[in-house]
Amino acid sequence: MAKLQIITAPDPRLKVKARAVEKVDAKVRRLMDDMLETMYGSIGVGLAAPQVGVALRVIVIDVAREGEKAQPVRMANPEILWRSEEKTVANEGCLSVPEHYADVSRAAEIRFRYIDEENEIREVQAQGLLATCVQHEIDHLDGVLFVDHISALKRGMILRKLQKTKRSRALERV
Ligand SMILES: [Zn+2]
Repeated sequence: MAKLQIITAPDPRLKVKARAVEKVDAKVRRLMDDMLETMYGSIGVGLAAPQVGVALRVIVIDVAREGEKAQPVRMANPEILWRSEEKTVANEGCLSVPEHYADVSRAAEIRFRYIDEENEIREVQAQGLLATCVQHEIDHLDGVLFVDHISALKRGMILRKLQKTKRSRALERV
């Protein structure tokens, strides 16, 4: 397994619509494993392939709490089949939007389908952190970040700060 580099916003690679996976082969499985290692190394609960520069519909998630056994989930082509009308608000963060958090309102409960690492189709009903996380990660596959769900004012502020951090890092490298 290898740790991959996580792309941070603003970056055009985070705005693309990712392609569906045709088949979960050894290459896709390797990507899933590398993404999990990258996610664990960055203390995240979810990661989508576009965040590591791969425009494929692949996400990995682990919503196990601290001290619990790891529960890695590898998904290809995840899609939401149903969303509850009831919403829930969670304070979200993102490995591609480092050090910024905001309250985002999403469906409280969802049913979704995906292809697992063995090419089996799975259907899951979820609420709580898993429901929030799956919606957040599927958004990434459509070029949407959590900051796209908040006010333009706050989004602009966060993105400008991130851009500034990027510029000062680029200067340090010179
Ligand atoms: Zn994210």
